Amino acid sequence: MLAILESAHTMLTNAPPFPDKADAPARCYALIPCAGSGSRAGTAQPKQYQSIAGARLIDHTVDAFLGVPALAGVGVVVAPEDVVYTSPHARVRVWHVGGATRAHSVFNGLLALQGAGARPHDWVLVHDAARCLVRPAEVEALIRACINDSVGGLLAVPVPDTLKRADCKGRAEQTVDRVDVWQAQTPQMFRVSTLWSALEAQSAEGFAGITDEASAVERTGLTPLLVRGSAQNFKVTYPEDFALAEAVLQSRRATNQREDNK
Ligand code: C5P
Repeated sequence: MLAILESAHTMLTNAPPFPDKADAPARCYALIPCAGSGSRAGTAQPKQYQSIAGARLIDHTVDAFLGVPALAGVGVVVAPEDVVYTSPHARVRVWHVGGATRAHSVFNGLLALQGAGARPHDWVLVHDAARCLVRPAEVEALIRACINDSVGGLLAVPVPDTLKRADCKGRAEQTVDRVDVWQAQTPQMFRVSTLWSALEAQSAEGFAGITDEASAVERTGLTPLLVRGSAQNFKVTYPEDFALAEAVLQSRRATNQREDNK
């Protein structure tokens, strides 16, 4: 099965598999779905290619993962017709297998990842290209929290605001109890086999209702670990989010420069 996947991968992508690290019993890989059109962002091109703080959104995102030495490789899933994204980094593979929804893109990317050498017991950290503010320390905290867990987990933050359920006229119908309510972020870290079988089980229904990896894993009866992240790791979605993301990146840069000058 693996040999077939590997030769299919080489034919499809013309890229070599990730180098084998024989000393690592279970490796960790990042998988970044980057095939969305970003229609809510109001940008002429897909939002992941919008420039903020001197680089494209996707470049900030990939750089954060390249800053995590524990990762054996980073796979980026782009749309089949995408001619924009390439990466000069040896640890990055670009796969043109994006699908109709985020879940389709992740499913196809997971197949490509297995073709590139990922084994069932390896870990995969799936991360939205549009979350360009994630920091290596947060990715490392997720790995530390999940690597010995039987299920895996995700970065998330407890919801701070009062939540309202809207009626069909856009009026507040009900206040939702926010105790125990968390906002899911990415990365979301699972064994390749756990995520593959969870997604495969939903593929016949077109991944209906699967908006993240954890939602597919939950449907198998497993309970992913919630690992507290940072509110700064938001998903750039709406037009006003670009200025906010730019401000955060600039402020981090200024802090780093001050530290370097000390
Ligand atoms: O559209 P949204 O921001 O929710 O998408 C989350 C992530 O999933 C983005 O990084 C986007 O590029 C990716 N995506 C994808 N394939 C799709 C839709 C979204 O890879 N068909």
